[in-house]
Amino acid sequence: MIVVKKFTFDAAHYLPSYRGKCEKLHGHTYRLSVAVEGSPDAEGMVIDFALLKAIVKKVVLDELDHSLLNDVLPVPSAENIAVWSWERLAPALQGPDHRLCRIEVWETATSGCIYEGGQL
Ligand SMILES: [Zn+2]
Repeated sequence: MIVVKKFTFDAAHYLPSYRGKCEKLHGHTYRLSVAVEGSPDAEGMVIDFALLKAIVKKVVLDELDHSLLNDVLPVPSAENIAVWSWERLAPALQGPDHRLCRIEVWETATSGCIYEGGQL
């Protein structure tokens, strides 16, 4: 079973070696979706949504919200933000009966990246 929680954060970025609209400094309201796979515990929960929210806030949102993403990641594409978030969230969301299984990072309503760990 998979549970999902969605977040948003506002951040600026530019893509230094890209030629096009995204090479210049600009911002997005990013949408982040974090999915955790596991079995419901005695309380019927794969993971408590409040705990999931607190973990995502602490290890991802507190770093990225209202930041210049280039200060955190040299090339802050949606793909690289997804991998960076995965590397921080996977250990934090590893429980006895649940684990991180999918991250989605959306720059706009129609452009996003899905990462499920492993091979890039
Ligand atoms: Zn952009």
